[in-house]
Amino acid sequence: MYVCGPTVYDLPHLGHGRFTLVWDVARRWFTFRGLDVHFVSNITDIDDNIIARALREESTETDVAATYENEWWKAMAAIGVARPVDVPHATAYVDEMVALIEGLLTRDVAYRTSDGVYFDVTHVPDYGLLAGQPLDSLRAGARIEANDEKRSPLDFALWKFAKPGEPSWSAPFGRGRPGWHTECVVMSLGLLGDGFDLHCGGFDLKFPHHENERAQAVAAGREFATHWAHNGWVMVGDQKMSKSLGNFTSLTDMLERTDARAYRLLVLRSHYRSPIEVSPTTIADAERGLERLDTLARRFNLPQLGGDIFVRQDELALSGELASTAEKIDDAIDDDLNTPVAVALLFDLLSTANALADAGNHDGALDHARVVNHYFAAMGLSLIGAFSSVDEASQSLVDARDAARASKDWAMADQLRDELVARGWVVEDSPAGTTIRRP
Ligand SMILES: [Zn+2]
Repeated sequence: MYVCGPTVYDLPHLGHGRFTLVWDVARRWFTFRGLDVHFVSNITDIDDNIIARALREESTETDVAATYENEWWKAMAAIGVARPVDVPHATAYVDEMVALIEGLLTRDVAYRTSDGVYFDVTHVPDYGLLAGQPLDSLRAGARIEANDEKRSPLDFALWKFAKPGEPSWSAPFGRGRPGWHTECVVMSLGLLGDGFDLHCGGFDLKFPHHENERAQAVAAGREFATHWAHNGWVMVGDQKMSKSLGNFTSLTDMLERTDARAYRLLVLRSHYRSPIEVSPTTIADAERGLERLDTLARRFNLPQLGGDIFVRQDELALSGELASTAEKIDDAIDDDLNTPVAVALLFDLLSTANALADAGNHDGALDHARVVNHYFAAMGLSLIGAFSSVDEASQSLVDARDAARASKDWAMADQLRDELVARGWVVEDSPAGTTIRRP
């Protein structure tokens, strides 16, 4: 599978977090179900935005790309997205891109203007397949551009001729740099071969990026991806991306303030094609769900699974009722990655596990809890049951409760106890004051 990766010129935003989580879940699920996944995701390390930033900061394109690629991998590690098997960098594939463009010029599917080489979309009979619109209606809706050398407003740049001070590569048709759509078609076909199984990306890439990748492959006589999947976008509420409103301004910013696993749970609770709202409220809601999962892990002393080691289905032998519930979960995710249904079923199992344990059936409870642990790990969400240190907010409640008790404000002391219990703590009084521990 090929997933369109980032252009590295800024910190990763929340939308980057979502698409990488969605396709990480898909990859892990395919592996869980026994498939051998060759996961490729690129880094676009040459682009207008990188050039603009280098100019603004009196830096070089190489330095800008290296800086933000580094930030990218830090954020990916923090949200538990596994490294791709291959990470092609656009600048390492320029020779192959030049060869593709030469072929398209020879076939008369591409043409030169004063500023670059363009692709003539009328040469691909089913252009508009991914957009879901025929060429005529796409053309009617296209923006009219200043560049009147283009034969059609839908034609796109395969190659941009060199401008002074910009990075460029030599080519038989003139020095310059590749267009973005040419990068991905060359890298995906180069690493995965003709007719590879799955090409993924955000909805915003469906048209024109993916349409244009496919058009080049078709025009070059290559068989492109046989399946496509596109994930929905991220909404941050009406008040967009404002730090003063407490909203998260970037993925990096969010990770500084929350448990990264909460974002994965939020993503899993929505269908990958639906939009999701990422705000302090929806994240706090996911954190409460996460706390229930971690509490389960602590109660049954479950091992921490997942992370870099992908979980496989055959590691879990099930029978009877649990086997049929697991089958329902498998069916849901196999059917276009319907993770919200799976998550709901897993939270039902969590409740059953706790109820069985409360009723004294420890073995039955443990069997249920194991399934919850295993299946969440299969989707990349590790339950953490080990004793965790007291977080700042809980500690300040402990301090406030001690102060209330010292001033004999019993009503306040009781209220603070309730707040701590709601956070999953067992609260005990000792001569030294309030102590808390996990159950
Ligand atoms: Zn791409």
